[in-house]
Formats: sequence, C-alpha cells, structure tokens
Amino acid sequence: DTKDIKVLLLENVNQTGVDILKEQGYQVEALKSSLPEEQLIEKIRDVHVIGIRSKTKLTERVLKEARNLIVIGCFCIGTNQVDLQNAAHQGIAVFNSPFSNSRSVAELVLAEIIVLARQLGDRSMELHHGTWNKVSKGCWEIRGKTLGIVGYGHIGSQLSVLSEAMGMEVIYYDIINSMGLGTAKQVPTLDDLLEQADFVTLHVPETPETKNMFGKKQFDKMKNGGYLINNARGSVVDIPALVEAMRSGKIAGAALDVFPNEPAGNGDYFNADLNPWAKDLRGLKNLILTPHIGGSTEEAQSAIGVEVSHALVKYVNEGSTLGAVNMPEVNLRSLTLDEPNCVRVVYIHRNVPGVLRQVNAALHAHNIDKQSSDSRGDIAYLLADVSEVKEEEIKDLFHSLEGLSSRVRTRMLY
Ligand code: NAD
Repeated sequence: DTKDIKVLLLENVNQTGVDILKEQGYQVEALKSSLPEEQLIEKIRDVHVIGIRSKTKLTERVLKEARNLIVIGCFCIGTNQVDLQNAAHQGIAVFNSPFSNSRSVAELVLAEIIVLARQLGDRSMELHHGTWNKVSKGCWEIRGKTLGIVGYGHIGSQLSVLSEAMGMEVIYYDIINSMGLGTAKQVPTLDDLLEQADFVTLHVPETPETKNMFGKKQFDKMKNGGYLINNARGSVVDIPALVEAMRSGKIAGAALDVFPNEPAGNGDYFNADLNPWAKDLRGLKNLILTPHIGGSTEEAQSAIGVEVSHALVKYVNEGSTLGAVNMPEVNLRSLTLDEPNCVRVVYIHRNVPGVLRQVNAALHAHNIDKQSSDSRGDIAYLLADVSEVKEEEIKDLFHSLEGLSSRVRTRMLY
C-alpha cells in the first residue's frame, strides 16, 4: 500500500520533489542537511526510498544496513556518491536527473556566443579596473555566422533552435544520424564541422572516445579567428593546446565552464598544484571562465525535483526502471492493477541461465498478460503482468519466486 511507503529525503531536496512524493500518500520525512554515517545507518534501516544530493555517501557499509530500501533518488546529475554496483546487487535501483538542466546550459552557451563575439568579458574587466577602451575591431554580430554543435543531444538540439532564432546558420556533428531541427544540417565528420564553423561548441558526454577529443589537430582545422565553447566535460578539451591556439591568435576567444579535476566545494582551485595549466589560462584575452554553472539555475533545481520524484514514483508503484543508472531499463505498457485479480511481478535476479524457465514455471497456473526482461552486467530485471490470481495466491507466488536461487529481490504490485 502506498501509505506504507517510507521516504527519507536529505540535503534539502527541492520542494517540487517533496510535494510529488507526498501526493502519492507516502510517509515523507524531509531533512535540510545530510546525516553523519552512524545516524544515516540508523535511519536507512527503516525506509523504502531515500532521496539525496551530492553530499550523502551511500557506501557499501551504509547500503548493507538498508534492508528495506528499494530505490535511491539522486536529486542531482552525478551518481558517484552512491556505490551503484553494490546497490544493484541488493536489488536497489538508482535514479538521477540527467536532463533537467538542458535548457539552462543551452541559454548559457547562447549568451557566451554573444559575449565572445563582442569581447564583453574583457571590456567589463577593463572598466572595472578603470580603463575606458572603446573598440570595434574584432567585434562581430552573430547573425549570419555559422555555429558548429558537436553532440546533438538534449543540450545541443535546444541550442540549435535558440541560435537559429538569432540568425545563425547551424551545422552539427554527432555519431548518431538524426534530422536537424529547423534548418540545422548534420555534417558527416568533425573535420567538416571545424572547417565551416565560426563558433564551435561541445555537447558530447564524457566517454573514452571524447577524452581529449579537442586538441592541437582540431584547433588547426578550425577557421582563423574561430571560437571554442566547452560546457560538456573537462576531459574533452586539451587545455595546453587551447592555450597555444589562443596565444597564436588562431582562436579569437573561448569559454570554459568545465575543467579537469574540479573541486568538490567552493574556494581555491586554480592555485592547486593539481592543475599546472591553470596559470596559463589566467589573463588570456577573451577567455570566459566559469565554475561549472551551466545547469545552475532555480528552474533547473525545481525540474530536478520533478524529474527524480516522477522516476521514483514510477519505480515504486509500477516497477519501471526507465532512466535507472544501475539496472537494465525495463517497462511494461499500461498497468492493469485496477483490474481485479491482476498482479505485476517484479523479479530482480542474478543474470544466470535458466531463470526465465523457473519464473514461468512458478507463474504457470496463471495467465501472463505481458512480460519483459533485460540484463545489465550480472543483474537482470523482469516484469510480468499476471492475471487470474486470487488474493490468497499472491503470497504463494511471492514465496515461490523468493525461493529461487537466482533471486535478488521480489516485489508484487497489486
Ligand atoms: P545527451 O546524451 O543528450 O547528448 C549527447 C550527444 O552526444 C548524443 O547525441 C550523442 O550521440 C553524442 N555523442 C556521443 N559521443 C559522441 C562522439 N564521440 N562524437 C560526437 N557525438 C557524440 O547529453 P546532454 O544532456 O546534451 O549533455 C551533453 C554534455 O553536457 C554531457 O557531457 C553533460 O555531462 C554536459 N553537461 C554539462 C552541464 C554544465 O553544467 N556545464 C550541465 C548538464 C550537462
């Protein structure tokens, strides 16, 4: 019953998220801060759902105590505060919010394009220091210029629409073929994009292929006086190569929102020995440096609350793992729980041979309306809607599945 679901929310999760969970009738306790490990262990024993942000560490030790926990919601983008593998092995799904801030990033990039084209950062800095320096040389309108978007996903495609509305021509490069929005055109190679674009902006994920994807070779291919914007990940751009391209004048400006070795909290960063290139970045002309604020807006925070809470509700009530970061994604179309004698079986199991046969043997006396399963590494996830089950049979079904040696966790939704 939804009223029996206990939810613990830490670190001041956005109110939009709290409200959605309360509307479900769950028992929600929302705390402003994170908890020291001992207190966390004490509380986590009791709850079915926990919502955290980046400070709460859900380690192997903590998860071991979380006997009732079925799902973790990270109300943020990152998930490295959670031992994902361990959670999966205990049948605990983990969700995050990868796309709630796409618009915020796209808007920031649009602003950066204009700021770079007009050298606004430098003019503002000069006047802050008392110098009146009115120039038009090397300052441009963005209308009619070509924007090259590398990675045409959630952010890249939003930006495509915004920049086209400002009169830019849009081309993009992506490993997946897609239909461009508006009049944006996909180009077959990164080199094609670099040769044609006045502004190049990066929106690819961090993968082995995108590590140092942008180095000397790519800068050399760009137009003279082009601009580079990186709001993706610090690993994508080779910073010494960027410094070189800016010093030589090949690149007329750049904006970096992401860096290698980003610190966990606010404070000193560029002085660290960790970042020997930092001293070379400081003082470069027409270079915008921001501390990973692409997605940092009020709107993105409330969208995170909505996105993660919806995923938690879909998981608790319907067993859907769409968007889970540590489990295979499995979903079944419309839930028929309102119909009498209908049960949705959630069976999380070790990915070993023979399980489907055993599960279906356990269900054999009933009608399986629909079923879906998938695996990810050594964990597999099965959903089945079973009809013609009498209330008193549900327990037996549950126990026969729980008795299988492959079992990680069983849930019966009805
Ligand atoms: P997304 O998954 O929606 O899109 C990424 C796109 O890149 C996909 O279309 C994919 O096919 C493409 N791609 C993957 N590998 C590629 C390759 N080697 N070459 C070309 N294209 C490739 O992701 P998104 O939400 O648009 O986010 C993009 C990036 O922005 C991510 O790295 C994300 O971490 C970062 N991000 C940064 C901030 C910030 O605050 N600065 C905020 C949100 C996201």
